[in-house]
Amino acid sequence: MTSPKKRLLTGDRPTGRLHIGHYVGSLQNRVRLQDEYDSFIEIADIQALTTHFKRPELISESIMQVAMDNLSVGLDPNKVTIFLQSQIPSIAEMTIFYSMLVTMNVLRQNPTVKSEAANYGYDDMTYGFFGYPVSQAADITFCGAHLVPVGEDQAPHIELCRKLVRRFNDLYAADAPFLIEPKMLVGDFPRLPGLDGNAKMGKSLGNAIYLSDPEDELRSKVMTAVTDPSRIHKNDPGHPDICVVATYHSVFTKDQYDDICDRCKAGSIGCVACKKELFTSINRLLTPFREKRAYYESHLDEVRDIIQAGNDRANAVGNETSRLMKEAMHLVPH
Ligand code: ATP
Ligand code: MG
Repeated sequence: MTSPKKRLLTGDRPTGRLHIGHYVGSLQNRVRLQDEYDSFIEIADIQALTTHFKRPELISESIMQVAMDNLSVGLDPNKVTIFLQSQIPSIAEMTIFYSMLVTMNVLRQNPTVKSEAANYGYDDMTYGFFGYPVSQAADITFCGAHLVPVGEDQAPHIELCRKLVRRFNDLYAADAPFLIEPKMLVGDFPRLPGLDGNAKMGKSLGNAIYLSDPEDELRSKVMTAVTDPSRIHKNDPGHPDICVVATYHSVFTKDQYDDICDRCKAGSIGCVACKKELFTSINRLLTPFREKRAYYESHLDEVRDIIQAGNDRANAVGNETSRLMKEAMHLVPH
């Protein structure tokens, strides 16, 4: 587990393509930190099964899409390790080890699991879904990650991971603790709302602008974004503080945000014109991503090779961590 650079781990569930919320919440930080950190990017297909176990074909299609989303925003496959969770058996082993160290009551209180269960309409939960934060602790610690760039919904999971690491080290490795307690890094915009006004843009929520959306689709999606409902006529004064379009401007048109808000409040810019400006800003961001993506879409074998090389590296690192854990727990024949 020695590496000249500190490590970083983050990832996405292949439950669909990635969107601009992922970009500002996490991907942007991945790109910024790829030189400074030895970065592991997980395509979390097992975690996708926790909610999408009846839709394996969607998970399967999305694996390549999520890999291309990461590559298209500028992650360099020669610098980062992109790997597929299901191909790393040590993560599954570590999930079992950690599951002994957490109680049902602690898991029951996890606010993100609660709100996701409500979103999915679960009145009961599978064991796999209920326990996915434990599996996420294994994702983070198998490679000894110091830093985890994620959206704010992940905070309770990182906290649990830190507790599990402390508990394991205290119980089994007090003399020479080797598991690393990770730190969370929240992006510029920890939770981007959806086009429909939902507090979170989510790829399973049908309210997202995808990084791969073509220009026309982007334009029509921006036009459907909800705005201040009390604003009926173009010259009515608007309320940017309750408008999703204004929130997006604060992220994607940062330098003109104050001016746009002033014009909105004065009723001198209508919602349609305001949305056109937003389209221009988001389109400027996405144009270079589309170009990179087009390259990978015509070189799918290259994408598969990148994932395979990532799996090999992740397995080498993970097998060593799991071996150390078993040794610390005296799970070796005497
Ligand atoms: P699903 O709806 O299937 O759970 P998701 O959109 O929540 O999909 P995940 O793969 O669960 O995406 O999350 C990947 C990463 O992106 C996590 O770090 C998460 O915090 C971050 N993220 C997801 N949605 C947003 C958002 N709207 N704003 C900021 N960050 C986000
Ligand atoms: Mg999610």
